Amino acid sequence: MDGRTLDAMRTALRGPVIGPQDPEYDRSRAIYNAMIDRRPAALVRCADAADVMAAVDFIRDNGLEVAVRGGGHSGPGLGLVEDGVTIDLSPMRWVRVDPAARTARAGGGSLLGDLDHAAHGFGLATPAGVMSTTGLGGLTLGGGHGYLTRKYGLTVDNLLSADVVLADGGFVTASETENPDLFWGLRGGGGNFGIVTSFDFRLHPVGSVGVGMTVWPVDSGREVLRWYREFLPRAPDDLNGFCALFTIPPGPPFPEEIHGRKMWGVVWCWTGDPQRLDETLTVVNEAGPPAFHFTTPMPYPALQSMFDTLIPAGLQWYWRGHFFDRITDEAIDVHAKYAENLPTELSLMHLYPVDGAAGRVAPDDTAWSYRDAVWSAVIAGVDPDPANARAVKQWCVDYWEELRPHSMGAAYVNFMDAESQDRVRAAYRGHYDRLAEIKRTYDPHNFFHVNQNIEPAEQ
Ligand code: FAD
Repeated sequence: MDGRTLDAMRTALRGPVIGPQDPEYDRSRAIYNAMIDRRPAALVRCADAADVMAAVDFIRDNGLEVAVRGGGHSGPGLGLVEDGVTIDLSPMRWVRVDPAARTARAGGGSLLGDLDHAAHGFGLATPAGVMSTTGLGGLTLGGGHGYLTRKYGLTVDNLLSADVVLADGGFVTASETENPDLFWGLRGGGGNFGIVTSFDFRLHPVGSVGVGMTVWPVDSGREVLRWYREFLPRAPDDLNGFCALFTIPPGPPFPEEIHGRKMWGVVWCWTGDPQRLDETLTVVNEAGPPAFHFTTPMPYPALQSMFDTLIPAGLQWYWRGHFFDRITDEAIDVHAKYAENLPTELSLMHLYPVDGAAGRVAPDDTAWSYRDAVWSAVIAGVDPDPANARAVKQWCVDYWEELRPHSMGAAYVNFMDAESQDRVRAAYRGHYDRLAEIKRTYDPHNFFHVNQNIEPAEQ
């Protein structure tokens, strides 16, 4: 992009426009996954919805490619486009809670921690993910699952409305009553239809929660997974527990003798009567003697940020996902095999429950198409050293391929890497054609295509 175009863009916008010559360019284009090294022609830090509208008009009228960045957590780096313009929503981090109505409005660039913190002040929360640094924008638009999913559903199940800037620069609100087709598509269809400048959520009374962690030696994986697959789906919705293959970090609360050891574990979140968590978890011994088990009450935002420093921004990441409606013995054999050769200390596999309240929403109520799934899995190869990038990627792909015959055949869009159009189509199952129609209505020229892309239906 020439200097004149950059200057013209600066004149059109209130927020800063950063080009390759600016000292903050490299810092501005850094995203969570350090494996992605893309050089946009410019990054536009939008101050508000008016800036987003002006940026969309400018980029479209100048025939440039656009990417939209919320929290920057996308594995394949979908917030950046080589030689195009990134609309960076990070200045739009704000939350307003209405405690009487139990709702919150959050700016389109907010992080999960922004909403958690603001709502917690009123003893409220809405379901989101498991790390406070993730962007609310990308997480919500893909579905959003986390600690409160079994109790209160996916993030999209708690979305009441959204303000959206469309490809033609227009501004609309989407809800059950306004532009309901767009509202349906936003609840799982990713950033395909426009740029959400604010989200309205329903909140629930969640203050302090019971938190726990149980870990077992890696060679007891078969017993742990067999026990977990039976126990969790039958447990009350108040209990959430994601199962993890990981390496014990060198610090509290873990005793020193297990630091650095590969383990299977379950991270518990309990929204029920605080006195009853320990009673509910007495059965953990049925999976074999744990190497470590603890429970404690904790403010919900503290749980949400518990892992933030363990996996900070700037690491090499490669991930893939699967959905499971059951965990078969054959799948367990695959897990046991890849647990043995976990390539680095930060590489992991997580199984997030998506049953309970999330599973009771009717399949066609939202674009999210996995109401029959019980778990959403992510396999992530992670390491600080770029020299290990190839090895962590290979481990992830091999593990994912071997699990594939035992899965539901497609993944959560938010856990897909740069895969293929067929995989995107598969991810939306029977909802793809309806999404393609909505795309044709709101973005007929596929202006917003730097995402897990839904192509507009043909005229
Ligand atoms: P970005 O890279 O900024 O954006 C991702 C995509 O969303 C892009 O296509 C972008 O254009 C679009 N987008 C973002 N904001 C907007 C907006 N306001 N309007 C329109 N489009 C927008 N997911 C879960 O469901 N649960 C979890 O517990 C969870 N944990 C995670 C933990 C880590 C460490 C990481 C890296 C990811 C996790 N995820 C989880 C996945 C996460 O939901 C996706 O990576 C998601 O895309 C992140 O959104 P973002 O805004 O941070 O990303």
